[in-house]
Amino acid sequence: MEYYSKQITKLIEELASLPGIGTKSAQRLAFHILNMPIENVESLSNAIVDARKNVRYCKQCFTLTDDELCPICKNPKRNHKEIMVVENTRDLTAYEKTGKYEGVYHVLHGAISPMLGIGPNDIRLKELMQRLQGDVDEVIIATNSSLEGETTAMYISKLIKPTGIKVTRIASGVPVGGDLEYIDEVTLLRALEGRVEL
Ligand code: ZN
Repeated sequence: MEYYSKQITKLIEELASLPGIGTKSAQRLAFHILNMPIENVESLSNAIVDARKNVRYCKQCFTLTDDELCPICKNPKRNHKEIMVVENTRDLTAYEKTGKYEGVYHVLHGAISPMLGIGPNDIRLKELMQRLQGDVDEVIIATNSSLEGETTAMYISKLIKPTGIKVTRIASGVPVGGDLEYIDEVTLLRALEGRVEL
């Protein structure tokens, strides 16, 4: 990349370091940015810095938010006695997009994976168990149907069973190994409606 001046090269390198962006896309984006009005570029870079600085975990469900509590946890119209457990904020968004789920969430930020050395203490499981000391009717486990997702689901259900709280698992129909965020809304809804008690 010595064809470009130092600053252009730096911009391309930074963009290319993002996931899913190869050198070609990085070059295209870089030249697009260089042709943008300066105000738009400033607005873009401020949005990145602001989000990175201010976004944190919701105190209750641990999704990413820019306030102490996320809008879902803050909403009194949601059913706070129904907690859906998901692996990450993208999965939460996938279920929110269906517009049909009225409960709240708990974001684990990962899944148990003995192969990768990720154990129960590496995800937000302790925090989930703490929440269950409150008034909770049902925990819906909506981890992915990958090996890690299933392992996590089994682990959580074993942990919750003794508390007497109802534990359900979203139905299959979500393809094995499928990431929730790529699955269409109808399939997600069917999986939710067809959930089975563990
Ligand atoms: Zn929240």
